[in-house]
Amino acid sequence: MNSESDYAMLIDGKRVATGQGTCGVTNPATGEEIARVPDCSDEQLDEAIAAARAAFPAWSALDLNERRARLVAFAEAILAQTAPLARLLTQEQGKPLHEAEREVMGCAGWLKGVCALDLPEEVNEDNETRLSVTQRVPLGVVGAIVPWNFPLLLAMFKIGPALVTGNTMVLKPSPFTPLTTLRMAELSRGILPDGVLNVICGEDRLGPAMTAHPGGDKISFTGSTATGRRVMGSSAATLKRVTLELGGNDAAIVLPDADVERIAPDLFWAAFRNNGQICIATKRLYVHRSVYARLKEALVAYAGTVRLGDGTEQGVGLGPLNNKPQFDRVRDLLEDSRAQGHSFLFEAAGDVPANGYFVPVTLIDNPPEEARIVQEEQFGPVLPILVYEDVEEAIARANASEYGLGCSIWGTDEEAAAAVAARIQSGTVWINETQYLSPFASFGGWKQSGVGTEGGREGLVEYTVPRTIVRRRASA
Ligand code: NAD
Repeated sequence: MNSESDYAMLIDGKRVATGQGTCGVTNPATGEEIARVPDCSDEQLDEAIAAARAAFPAWSALDLNERRARLVAFAEAILAQTAPLARLLTQEQGKPLHEAEREVMGCAGWLKGVCALDLPEEVNEDNETRLSVTQRVPLGVVGAIVPWNFPLLLAMFKIGPALVTGNTMVLKPSPFTPLTTLRMAELSRGILPDGVLNVICGEDRLGPAMTAHPGGDKISFTGSTATGRRVMGSSAATLKRVTLELGGNDAAIVLPDADVERIAPDLFWAAFRNNGQICIATKRLYVHRSVYARLKEALVAYAGTVRLGDGTEQGVGLGPLNNKPQFDRVRDLLEDSRAQGHSFLFEAAGDVPANGYFVPVTLIDNPPEEARIVQEEQFGPVLPILVYEDVEEAIARANASEYGLGCSIWGTDEEAAAAVAARIQSGTVWINETQYLSPFASFGGWKQSGVGTEGGREGLVEYTVPRTIVRRRASA
């Protein structure tokens, strides 16, 4: 059954408001359906990939500065719509309005930043006999698959480097958060040539259909480790390149000399921003015994000041979780902790809105290391705080994870903190801050947290293949 939606996919530069049906999108703060979007059919997926394929020769042949100019214009168009995009993002994702604004602006800023990067050819040999250089050329059609926690920013982590290097793209947002991405895609019309950026959306079958499709050259995926494995397996049949940005269980290590009262708010937000639904959220907090009691007290005091509610309301610091499966998963972890007899240090009191996927902030006091809440990625507003006796032990416990995405070290003596950072097995280690990402630095996961990187020169390389040109000198 076909039915029109206000929200349209973007295929070959055209608004496509009809799919093989429609899918509902829920506001997680109210539990109410706020929109229906087209459910992309197999034929429409074929059309999107064909459009990207057709657009590739001209886009990749365009002068780099011309591609950059178009992409910067796209970034400006996004910035000009910050307020409506942010409002829609809050409605479909749940994050407070100020965080949604930050995401929209961050997404535009990221695109501009990527446009300032260079991927010059490398000279391998230059002598009397020959000149050998390696150029990086675009792969072709990239399929991009994005999760629901930062729908715009994580889409832009892929759009920016893929398009600036000359690839074309078919992008799929999460079925939980397609709305803002579809609106953003519309803003590219008339700025990017038709077919360069196609955005489709639909039910769960669409992701596997993209990874299995014979028409793509690469899949760039951000999401859970379990899905990442499926993406890699499915992409293997057509030998698509993959970049996989996957789950994490980031530790923060608070050293004995840390100024715990000063850093408590930073640590709170490291764990709870976006309700902990950040791949690089602090998910395990290791605190030296000498400062444990003071930090606990400071965290509990700070947690009491943060209001939970509908993200569109003034003064709200934390919204709901994004969706029912995640809501159930976090509650299951909480029930497990309760059943194991863990000590709950803080559970946000007061009114938790009745409808919607709200889970109050919860701090758990020194649960056993093997507890599920320590070992699993909670991706929710629950933080285990763990005591350690000496720094060697803290490093070993931080590294004893199947994940290796991020980690942060907190201490007054920066050199001592840097020495700890140098022993951490993760893609990024921050000292006295966390979650700072930049388009100029590579970002990726070790171990089960991913394959490949996004950001920086290395992030651009991921969207290219090398072409080495060897020229024998006439004089040789
Ligand atoms: P998810 O893996 O369930 O879904 C991610 C995307 O994959 C969605 O668009 C979904 O529709 C699609 N998908 C689902 N099954 C698929 C399949 N078989 N083949 C292809 N696509 C498929 O993840 P989520 O719940 O949306 O996101 C949360 C997870 O993402 C967390 O584990 C988090 O740590 C991780 N994450 C990682 C990063 C990073 O940069 N490393 C960033 C954000 C989130």
